Amino acid sequence: MNKIKVGVIGATGMVGQNYLRLLADHPWFEVTYVAASPRSAGRRYEEAVAGRWLMTTPLPDQFKDLIVGDAGDINSAKGKCSVIFSAVSLDKEKVKELELAYAAEGFAVVSNNSAHRHTENVPMLIPEINHSHADIIPAQRKHYGWDKGLLAVKPNCSLQSYLTPIHALREKGYQIDRIIITTMQAISGAGYPGPATYDLLDNVVPYIGGEEEKTELEPLKIFGTIKEGKFIYDQSIQISAHCNRVPVIDGHTACVSMGFKGKRPEINEIVEIWENFTSLPQLLDLPSAPRQPIIVRHEVDRPQPRRDRDMDKAMAVTVGRLRECNVFDYRFVGLSHNTVRGAAGGAILMAELLTAKEYIK
Ligand code: NAP
Repeated sequence: MNKIKVGVIGATGMVGQNYLRLLADHPWFEVTYVAASPRSAGRRYEEAVAGRWLMTTPLPDQFKDLIVGDAGDINSAKGKCSVIFSAVSLDKEKVKELELAYAAEGFAVVSNNSAHRHTENVPMLIPEINHSHADIIPAQRKHYGWDKGLLAVKPNCSLQSYLTPIHALREKGYQIDRIIITTMQAISGAGYPGPATYDLLDNVVPYIGGEEEKTELEPLKIFGTIKEGKFIYDQSIQISAHCNRVPVIDGHTACVSMGFKGKRPEINEIVEIWENFTSLPQLLDLPSAPRQPIIVRHEVDRPQPRRDRDMDKAMAVTVGRLRECNVFDYRFVGLSHNTVRGAAGGAILMAELLTAKEYIK
């Protein structure tokens, strides 16, 4: 099979580096273009990331000599790739404009940025949950007059740690109408260099700008439906979130209390639903799909970031501490790898889904 040529914009950053690490031996995609800010443009990739390659594995040889383009210059990507993974850190309005401009030029844009998460015809995908939302793309193309271009986005990284377990229960007919979530989010979620050491060591910061709003609103779109080429948000769940930055390198943890409307499952049934949960990415055997999307730990002190974040290519969600809640019905702890499942790996899985559905060719 000829590999699909892909570009990464924001390739020098935390998420961008994860893309390159994960795409180095990808069976379907080949990175043929990298871009970043004008500060990095024109340099060899190896030089552009000198002293700031943050991965724990060496920079793959195949990327060292790629010349970094200017992410703002769409012309320099033309002819080099057909898919753009977007991980630029820019002002929201500029990202909105830039991603639409790439799609208008025929690129399939898969983005980690929050700019288009609430654009009415842009799917925000967690492939195990709302893979059917990808089918808005024909309506999106028609709306913008695009022939080959498309735009799909990933939700906020913290959602991955608890939303798939919630979805698995909903899918079995259990209606959850209220959730309280307290996240403990890793430093890597803030990009490099992130918050100052002095703020983080020996400390917890009980504020991450915009994060609580994203945690409360994005699930409603993901659980929503498509009507006349637009997303209708699910209004049946109320979510209250507390988001904290903690001194962990990778892995977002979420403590979740959930309340059911109507009948509620027994604890052993919840465990069974979670352990047996699979979805379209598993059925299609997509290269980045975890074989078991939800892993249940039965020890009293799991999941933990250092011990559980890398499960199944760092793409699985690990849950544990499922127990009765004195206020709602049940509570549990969820954990996922924020820069893999929550960022680059999750977006690569989205691109694989879009390829399997033949929106990317
Ligand atoms: P980062 O480490 O700060 O990297 C930012 C990237 O954007 C770098 O490649 C940088 O290039 C580029 N950039 C900065 N200014 C630019 C400009 N004016 N024009 C073009 N490119 C520019 O950030 P990150 O953590 O990788 O995050 C990237 C995006 O993903 C953000 O939107 C973030 O919210 C989102 N995200 C992050 C995570 C996570 O866990 N970290 C998870 C989900 C989503 P230079 O190196 O040349 O400056």
